[in-house]
Parts: sequence; C-alpha cells; structure tokens
Amino acid sequence: MTIDLRSDTVTKPTPGMHDAMMTAEVGDDVFGEDPSVKKLEQKCADLLGMDAGIFCPSGTMTNQIGIKVLTQPYDEVICYKGAHIYKYEGGGLAGNSLISSRLIDGDRGRLSVKDVEENINNYNDPHQAKSSTVALENTVVREAGSFYKLDQIKEVSEFSRSKGLTMHLDGARFFNAIVETGDDPKEYGKLFDTISICLSKGLGTPVGSVLVCKKENELKARRIRKVFGGGMRQAGYLAAAGIYALDNHVSRLKEDHARARELGKMISSLSWVESVMPVDTNIVIFSMKASVAPENVLQKLSAENIKALKFGPQEIRMVTHLDFDDTMLEKAVDVFKKLSF
Ligand SMILES: *Cc1c(COP(=O)(O)O)cnc(C)c1O
Repeated sequence: MTIDLRSDTVTKPTPGMHDAMMTAEVGDDVFGEDPSVKKLEQKCADLLGMDAGIFCPSGTMTNQIGIKVLTQPYDEVICYKGAHIYKYEGGGLAGNSLISSRLIDGDRGRLSVKDVEENINNYNDPHQAKSSTVALENTVVREAGSFYKLDQIKEVSEFSRSKGLTMHLDGARFFNAIVETGDDPKEYGKLFDTISICLSKGLGTPVGSVLVCKKENELKARRIRKVFGGGMRQAGYLAAAGIYALDNHVSRLKEDHARARELGKMISSLSWVESVMPVDTNIVIFSMKASVAPENVLQKLSAENIKALKFGPQEIRMVTHLDFDDTMLEKAVDVFKKLSF
C-alpha cells in the first residue's frame, strides 16, 4: 500500500466515475458538438451563478485565460505574493498577458479592502502601471488551505469594482472552502468576472478545470483557449468525470478535512517538529526543527511507502484526498509516531 500525500491531484477515477466516463456521449468539441462538455460547462455556470463555462485541460490554463480576458498589456494584477497565478504558473502572467503583478502579504493569503486600497496605482501618473484586476485564491494553497468567508470577498469585490477593477478567482479548491463555510456558490458569480475551478484536485477527476465567466467574455475566453492550444476534441470522456464529481464528490470533502486535521494534530505533538500551520481544509504544512532536514524526513517516510512534498527550506506539505482513507490515516499516524531524529 502506497500512501501518496504529495497532492490531491494524484487520485484515480472511482468505479462510478470510470463508468460515467466510459459511457459518455461525445463529439468534436472544437466544432461545439460534444454534449457532455456542454453539459459540464452549463452545470458549472449554473452552480456558480454565472452565464458560461469553458472546459480546459488545466487550472493553470483557466487562470491564465481568465486574467488575459480581464487585462490589457502593461496592466497590473493585484494578488497574494504566494498566489498560484504568480508563483506556480511559469511566469505566465508576464508571458501570456504582458502584465505586472502587485504582490500582497495578506492574512494567510487573504486580501482585505485595505490591501487593495493601498496598492491601487494612480492612473493619472504615467510612471505607474494601470491597476486592472484583483485576483483572489480560495482556498490558498501556499497557506495550508486557508479560506475566505463570503462577507470578506463581498467587501473586497464591492470596493475593487467601485475603483474600476475587475475580479478573478482562482478557485482550484473552491469547494473545499464551500463545504466549510456553507456559503451558496451562486453568490460567487455576482462577485467575480471570471472564476477558475479545478475538477482534478479534491473532486478527483483525472483531468480538467472549468473557467466560468459572463456572457460578454465568453467568446474572447474561447478564442484565447484556442490560441493556448486548449481546444479539445472528444473531451466529453473527461467532462463526464467532472459531472460525476460535482454530483458525488463535493460533500465528502469534509472527510478529507477531518483527516487532515487529525494528521496536523498528531504532527504538532512530535518532538522534532517546529510548527504546523493551522489546518483549515485538506492541506497540512509543517516545519521541522533546524537540526532535522526535510529530505531526511521524506526519505524515512518513503521507506514506509508514504509520499509527501518538500514545500520550503524546512517545510513539508501533505494533502488529503479521495484516495486517502481511514486505514491509510492510521498507518500514516503510526509511521510518524515511530520516526526519530
Ligand atoms: C493546482 C492549482 C491550480 C491549477 O493547477 P493545474 O495543475 O494547472 O491544474 C491553480 N491554482 C491553485 C491554487 C492550485 O492549487
């Protein structure tokens, strides 16, 4: 038994999802003829209170399309300094959209009205890039899955829009936030211009993300997807997995959170651990005391068939998911408790 906690992207389709994929009705989606893709796109748009959905191969692509739709070259996007769009998308903001990034500390990655207010450039000063878009991330991966309450997002959105800025949400783990807050996903559609959600993280599909947007941005977004090489043909096999995941794998995310909390609690009791970030959803990030090298920890875990990820000079990350059950949790707890340095 291998226990893979490097990411929630490592899951394999469940038998039910596999069946849904194999029996999917498909067509050529570049010709707009794949019924399963259309169904998934509309389902996501309806769920989030938006007009249109656009199925893409990755969350990086949905983010990059969303930002490109909302900006012009030489604009500036305001985001958390550890945001996925800035830190983990290969410099795409600069390369794809020709924009600069204004990086904010935030409260565990969450931006406030004050953060936005203090970082809007003066448009009348030609030295300064034009502030264009505020990009939020929910949950925040770099901050161990911290999440926003709807009220905070509402405030940031209302303020930003009053200053003429547009709003993008990187919701790679949007549903992990929703199951904790109990907020209505439809409210989010009112607060953002573009929202990216990933189906291949906690929801457990093999591939796929959806960008939801307003009608007026749909054609532009589809055009950019084509340019990026994201027009897929009989993609309905993958879309069917997404539909299945939205119907069956959302509420169970709470189980992942409970297991992550248990891991976090156990790890914080270990003598060689310096600290554990608060475990709000399904991500556990902990740092080791200076005398213990993360590589050494990972090696010992690996010898017990447990995989985790180095996530900083002294940090390790573990992410719980659909393919990590209670038996595996017990084994992982046992292994950790026996480690010594
Ligand atoms: C995983 C992730 C993405 C998208 O990643 P892909 O691997 O391109 O699908 C985007 N944002 C966040 C916060 C993520 O964790």
